[in-house]
Amino acid sequence: MRSDLASCVVSVSGIRGIVGPAMNPSLMCALGAAVGRRLAKGKGVVLGRDSRDSGPLLADALASGLRGVGCEVIDLGIVPTPTVPLMVRRLRAGAGVQISASHNPEPWNALKIYTRRGRNVDGDELEQVLALMASPPADLWVGHQALGQRRDQPDAIALHCRAVLDTVDLARLHKRRLRVVVDSVNGAGAVIAPQLLEQLGCEVIPIYDRPDRPFPRDPEPTAANVTETGAMVKALGADLGFVQDPDADRLAIIDERGRYIGEEYTLVLCAAARFSAADVGPDAVAVTNLSTSRMLEDVAARHGAQVIRTRVGEAHVLDAMQASQALIGGEGNGGVVDPRVVFCRDSQAAMALVLDYCARREKPLSHLLAEIPSYAMHKEKVGLDRAAVAAAIAQVLESPLVQGAVIDVQDGLKLIWPDSWLHLRASGTEPAARIISEAPSAAAARKLAGQLRGLIKAPLLKAGHH
Ligand code: MG
Repeated sequence: MRSDLASCVVSVSGIRGIVGPAMNPSLMCALGAAVGRRLAKGKGVVLGRDSRDSGPLLADALASGLRGVGCEVIDLGIVPTPTVPLMVRRLRAGAGVQISASHNPEPWNALKIYTRRGRNVDGDELEQVLALMASPPADLWVGHQALGQRRDQPDAIALHCRAVLDTVDLARLHKRRLRVVVDSVNGAGAVIAPQLLEQLGCEVIPIYDRPDRPFPRDPEPTAANVTETGAMVKALGADLGFVQDPDADRLAIIDERGRYIGEEYTLVLCAAARFSAADVGPDAVAVTNLSTSRMLEDVAARHGAQVIRTRVGEAHVLDAMQASQALIGGEGNGGVVDPRVVFCRDSQAAMALVLDYCARREKPLSHLLAEIPSYAMHKEKVGLDRAAVAAAIAQVLESPLVQGAVIDVQDGLKLIWPDSWLHLRASGTEPAARIISEAPSAAAARKLAGQLRGLIKAPLLKAGHH
């Protein structure tokens, strides 16, 4: 295998690496040719990128590879990641590619690949792309008359906004005129969020809305990274604050008191918004992974709705959403999927759901949050490889710990009690395992994780609250 590709982390959710030794123009050109040949099969390919400074160079190289095998390149420029699959569907393109390393810092970049269905590539499709790169056919590159053209598609942001606006009660939002701080961390969200929020009837206070500038901080929207934004929400008397990650698929929320509410609440609030809408019947479904907060079950139960749990990973959530015709889905990292907008995590769709809910309920966000039972989550990383995890699971199943628990073995082992749960699973990216627990108090959550760790005698690598 070529050494730059070997230095990348390669999975169906993307090909990710350090710019230079891993992500470089040569690799991008080869990937472009392979995507064009294997997935797009001569049809147009939608190309987007986030705002990081390696984006234009990598996009040019990727476009060259695509054009060299005869594919037209439909260039969106800087756009949120979900805009790419949305435009693939709209334009009936052959594939889509987004250059973004999401929440990773500037030295990183990555390529996300979408098929003509507007979905992430699956394992087979990714294998086909990589196989073609490993042994390219002699006729890979086309002659001068068959080269693909490159054209701009300037209305992608407007089309994305329109799709989001169609999901809300615009008249009510304009009447309510919520005051909103939006922090796009100088990422791709900056090209859409301020104008979208204005169209949603908000009084908008954008911060870090300069995609031509570097990220002002560690760009992952965690509590520690957004304290300044929280202080601003409070000082400016805003109704709420939104924080996007650099490719604007994930959303974190700050309440009117300036408090970062945690990314677990993003999906829960959006589900509350969706399930309580007037047009929603009692057979509604939400989909999330096994490691996401059980607040979702509480919210669903209130509306007679059902929650389906999947293995961890966006692709699993999307597959189950499709199979169950779910109204909403996502994960506890602030990624929310509203299929009415696009079949992909989209912070724009999530912002609209939260605002629509606030306007409809006519209560401050902190009051709406107080209606949701609260839990504490505890996360640990332990030193167990995949084989050791399998042995540990067999051992736990024989132990008294499982008494009275509902047992789920889709992804490692999850034990579920009426107001708490415990999940052990092998990490997908390193030879370690994760223990995640949730209970009504932090002490109870920590105790559950400790009981499991003691039982399987796993060495603790790192622990944290959530
Ligand atoms: Mg992201």
